[in-house]
Amino acid sequence: MSSIRQKPKFRKIYPNIFRVSLPLPGASPGPVNVYLFKGEKNVLLDTGPKQTVNLLEGALAEIGCPVSAVSSIILTHGHPDHYGGAYKLSQQSGAEVKAHEDDKRAVETGWDVPVAKIWKFLRVMGVPLHFRIASLVAGFLLNQMVDRCRISHTLCDGEKVSMGSYTGTVISTPGHSRGSICIYLEEEGVLFSGDHILEHISPNPIVMLDNFNSLPKRQSQIEFYSSIDRIKRLNPRMIYPGHGREITDLLPVIEKYRSRFEERQEEIYSIVSSRDCTAYEIAKQVFPNLSSIMFFLDIFLSVSEVFTHLQVLEKDKKVVFCFKNGRLFPRAI
Ligand SMILES: [Zn+2]
Ligand SMILES: [Zn+2]
Repeated sequence: MSSIRQKPKFRKIYPNIFRVSLPLPGASPGPVNVYLFKGEKNVLLDTGPKQTVNLLEGALAEIGCPVSAVSSIILTHGHPDHYGGAYKLSQQSGAEVKAHEDDKRAVETGWDVPVAKIWKFLRVMGVPLHFRIASLVAGFLLNQMVDRCRISHTLCDGEKVSMGSYTGTVISTPGHSRGSICIYLEEEGVLFSGDHILEHISPNPIVMLDNFNSLPKRQSQIEFYSSIDRIKRLNPRMIYPGHGREITDLLPVIEKYRSRFEERQEEIYSIVSSRDCTAYEIAKQVFPNLSSIMFFLDIFLSVSEVFTHLQVLEKDKKVVFCFKNGRLFPRAI
């Protein structure tokens, strides 16, 4: 049976602000939201992957803002579903592309860190050789969603940016990625959260692999929750995320994240307490679907999630980090 997929359209969400949802492969995290801020200078917030640039172009034309009329593209973070189309769009429009310094490498090269670091991390986590290879292949496949794109301006925390007829403030919110940002329209109390705050799923604080020797130093979970506290203090009236619908009541969403975090901490602690195992072996228990060959990318994400939780347990002095043959073996204290 054939189905006719409707062309995505921009819909007005606020005076002079429009949203279009572009399709992504797979069920989660669901279509990516791209926002258009109309004004003397038109601004796009995120672009979706390169494969949907034609859909975005069509939607822009339909709303009376052809690509050539876009002056700048602001990226909430350096993940393929958010920046993959930036190169094509900037080529066609001459628009500046702006992102946080810490995600510049991801956008410009397609890799957040050199591939050798990802390989080393997976090895230390105990991922078997064939799955390490498969994970990297999955990373290369994911990069098919992007054209690498030069960043013309790096954004800093607190910087004021023109967002069409509004002025936005850049809020640095590391956690989901090193260079994740939110854009806050202070006078209006409206926040654009990228993947830092989502309503239908808990954002994944992904391991930060820069500058590490034996183990990554930066604590993604802790940084993520301090970024969440920062947004909580801003107390936005309305949040427009990178996927899914808008959020009017932030507190229950944060509560959901925290309870999921605590459940996972307990689960991982109880596995570590019961036997000697690597982060990969813990991940297999926490995410039983991991053995399926369909989920190579999930191997990295699952091991990343387990490790970032172990970092918190280690900081709380509930586990110590031991090594055997270059593999991490966390031990419960
Ligand atoms: Zn993301
Ligand atoms: Zn995303």
